[in-house]
Amino acid sequence: MVIDQPDLDREASVADKMMQAVDQQAVAMSTSDQIAVENVSLRYGGSAGVLAIDNVSFTVPDNEFCVIVGPSGCGKSSLLYLAAGLHDATSGRILVNGHEVFEPGRERGMVFQGYTLFPWLTVRANIEYGPKRRGMAAPERRKIVDQYLEEVGLTAFANHYPSQLSGGMKQRVAIARALANDPAVLLMDEPFGALDSQTRTTMQKLLLRVWERHHKTVLFVTHDIEEALLLGDRVLVMTARPGRIKAQVKVNIPRPRTTNLILEPEFIALKRQLLSLLHDEIDENH
Ligand code: ADP
Ligand code: MG
Repeated sequence: MVIDQPDLDREASVADKMMQAVDQQAVAMSTSDQIAVENVSLRYGGSAGVLAIDNVSFTVPDNEFCVIVGPSGCGKSSLLYLAAGLHDATSGRILVNGHEVFEPGRERGMVFQGYTLFPWLTVRANIEYGPKRRGMAAPERRKIVDQYLEEVGLTAFANHYPSQLSGGMKQRVAIARALANDPAVLLMDEPFGALDSQTRTTMQKLLLRVWERHHKTVLFVTHDIEEALLLGDRVLVMTARPGRIKAQVKVNIPRPRTTNLILEPEFIALKRQLLSLLHDEIDENH
C-alpha cells in the first residue's frame, strides 16, 4: 500500500494554529472525556465538490486507543482535522468531552506524520511552548518538560534543534509536546508513516509505554494493519472515498503488548480479517 505523502505546508500552518489555540480554551477535565462523531459529512469545494466523508458516526470511550484504517484518500486525515477543529464539517458535529468542537483546543493534542516542530526552537522550548503560553510558572514547566523528555528518551537532546534530530526523534518530540499540554485526547495522523521499519517499531513500543502510563483517549490513523492491531483496543475500517465506517474490529489482545505478538495465532486471525475488509475496498475502487 502507498504511504500518504504529508502535506508539509498544510501541516506546518496547522501546527502553528493549534499552538496558538492552546491557551484560548479553559478545559474542565473529567473522567468522562470521550469523542463522539455524529453524522459527520465533509465536502470539499462547495456543493459540486468532492464528498470526502459521508455520514460518519462513532464514539470513542474514555481511555480507549481507537485506530482508523482505510484506503488512501478515504478521508482519514480529513476526519482527524475535523476532530482537531481545523476544518468545519459540512454537516454533523463532533463532541469532545461533551463539548462541540469548533476550533483547536488544548484538550486535543495532535501529532502529524510530517514534522511540525518549530525549527527555530530547541527540543526543550518546543515541548515547553504550550505550558508557557498557558502561563505556567518556570519551575513547574521545567519539571513537566524534564518528565516528558525522559519518557521519550531525549533528555540528552534537550538543547538540540529539530534539524539536528532524526525523523524518529522529531516524532518523539512531537509526542512529548502534545502530552505536555495534558490533553484529554490525542489525535495522531500516521505519526510513524514516514519512518523506516526499525524506527517505527521502536516508536510503537514507546507509544505503548507512554499510553499505558497516561491512558489518554487516542484516535490514531494508520495504513499499517500490524500497527493498528499492536496498538489499538478497536480498529475502525473506512470505505474508499467517500469515507464511511465499514466495520469495526475489537482487538481483545491483553496488554502490555510486545512486538512479538505479530506471530501469535490470534493476531494473525485479526490481521487476516482486517486485510480482507481493506482489500474489498481497494479491489472495488481501483
Ligand atoms: P486520507 O488521509 O485517508 O488519505 P484525506 O482526508 O487526505 O484522505 O483526503 C480525502 C479526500 O479528500 C481525498 O480524495 C483528497 O484528495 C480530498 N481532499 C483532501 N483535502 C482536500 C482539500 N483541501 N481540498 C479538496 N479536496 C481535498
Ligand atoms: Mg492522510
